[in-house]
Amino acid sequence: MTLDPLLNTKILDMGRRIFADLGNTEPSLLDPRYLNSLLMRWSMRQRDFKVNLFRLVDVLPTLKSNTAIAEHVREYLIPPANKIHPSLGWLISLCENPLLAHVAAGMVRQGVRQMASMFIAGESPTSALPVLQRLRRERYSFTVDLLGEFCVCEKEAKEYQNRYLDAIETLGTTIPTWKEGKPIIEGHPGEESPVCVSVKLSALYSQTSVLNFDRSVAVLSERLTEIARRVRHHGALLYVDAEDSGNNSIIYEAFKRVFGSQEFRDLPYPGIVIQAYSKSSEARVDEMLAFARERGTPIAIRLVKGAYWDYERVVSGQNDWEFPLWTRKESSDAHYEHLSRKLLDNHEVCLPAFGSHNIRSLSHACCYAESIGLSQKDFELQVLYGMAEPIANAFMKRDYLVRMYVPLGELLPGMGYLVRRLLENTSNESFLRHTFFDEDEVSILLKEPHLQPEDCALSSSAPTHPAPSVPTPDNEPSTLSQ
Ligand SMILES: Cc1cc2nc3c(=O)[nH]c(=O)nc-3n(C[C@H](O)[C@H](O)[C@H](O)COP(=O)(O)OP(=O)(O)OC[C@H]3O[C@@H](n4cnc5c(N)ncnc54)[C@H](O)[C@@H]3O)c2cc1C
Repeated sequence: MTLDPLLNTKILDMGRRIFADLGNTEPSLLDPRYLNSLLMRWSMRQRDFKVNLFRLVDVLPTLKSNTAIAEHVREYLIPPANKIHPSLGWLISLCENPLLAHVAAGMVRQGVRQMASMFIAGESPTSALPVLQRLRRERYSFTVDLLGEFCVCEKEAKEYQNRYLDAIETLGTTIPTWKEGKPIIEGHPGEESPVCVSVKLSALYSQTSVLNFDRSVAVLSERLTEIARRVRHHGALLYVDAEDSGNNSIIYEAFKRVFGSQEFRDLPYPGIVIQAYSKSSEARVDEMLAFARERGTPIAIRLVKGAYWDYERVVSGQNDWEFPLWTRKESSDAHYEHLSRKLLDNHEVCLPAFGSHNIRSLSHACCYAESIGLSQKDFELQVLYGMAEPIANAFMKRDYLVRMYVPLGELLPGMGYLVRRLLENTSNESFLRHTFFDEDEVSILLKEPHLQPEDCALSSSAPTHPAPSVPTPDNEPSTLSQ
């Protein structure tokens, strides 16, 4: 399907104006972010360098001695660095010298810490308060996420839940007292409270698995209920994040169970996330809109493209399952636009929140909203902290409500998140890479996306009815992919 040409022209105009506002975003030599920017560039030029750099980042928190760090740096980085430039390989090889190993290890630790601080705002809610206050002063909304994706035992799961309860307590008692706590856009549902958290549900139960579907839903619903009670006590807002397809079927079920219950049916705007890269995402949108209607109180839906594409590829390949996602990036972009329109058309039962750093995707949502007579109060835009501030600024200055997703946590549990952000920044497919590093033609980047022929064939077999409530992960070949 092709967009109305008038609407498409408006999107192109808006996109061009946003691009014009970005200006030069490259950090200067004196900027502490310069080294990171250089590492990202090398990563994009040399795949081996990228893979080994991210392996090093991943393993770093477990390396206890300077010698171990120096050894890993040498082993992982010298061969690919030599391919970029022999002098770079030579520079890194200096850490082989026992006298310099200590200095090199310190620099590596400091470098990774600094890299992490670009994407993670603090170790705890208390330590992140100054950052959150600055964001509100700059007229950003935010949602806070506590890093910690996998838990291996119930002790960890309970600790994670308690961290959420404490975080809501800390944020809920402090932020409303700030003068920056006042609504950024008066009457915007996303500003009913300045306090908002995003929860990674699967980490609240150590046995979360589709093979343990009923129990997973029951335990997660119970634990989410406790968090929702604390949220309600402080009049705060909450989103439940989307994860990989296996966990998502549990997450959607638990979300509906908690927020469809007698206790929480009247809680306004509990948020859920839908991933447009999934072939079943339209069915999910329909399911959640029907849920909101039936519930009688609106929900919020954050539309994203999805962060687990590579992971899903590996898992479905290993298990010989049908791949549950679109196979072409452009198909995900096109489907994102399709679902954006559907959410905006149903804004009376949901607050659409567009989570993306793609100027075309965001401009499309803004222009379509305007074309059907909606105002800035009827939806919001969301970006990840540290990922695309110039883009966020450009939309914020045009009076759109922009919410930053702000992760908090220590380096070790934060590594998975950090590596995902690094991969996104350096992926060939990423809009951000093309915007900030490749400087591609703006008109190419703003081109209207279409579902690709490879995916059109697949879409005819994708489900068009609400997703099943049976315990089937989205990527199993049975119900969903038939
Ligand atoms: C505020 C916020 C909250 C988020 N919350 C979540 C969340 O809860 N769960 C979650 O999974 N993600 C979440 N994300 C991440 C999101 O899903 C994307 O990974 C990220 O935003 C990049 O998409 P983009 O539109 O910004 O960039 P773009 O560069 O336009 O798109 C990149 C995306 O395209 C898709 N893609 C890449 N290659 C292919 C391919 N070959 N075939 C099909 N599709 C492809 C992938 O989804 C990839 O992330 C969130 C993002 C934001 C901004």
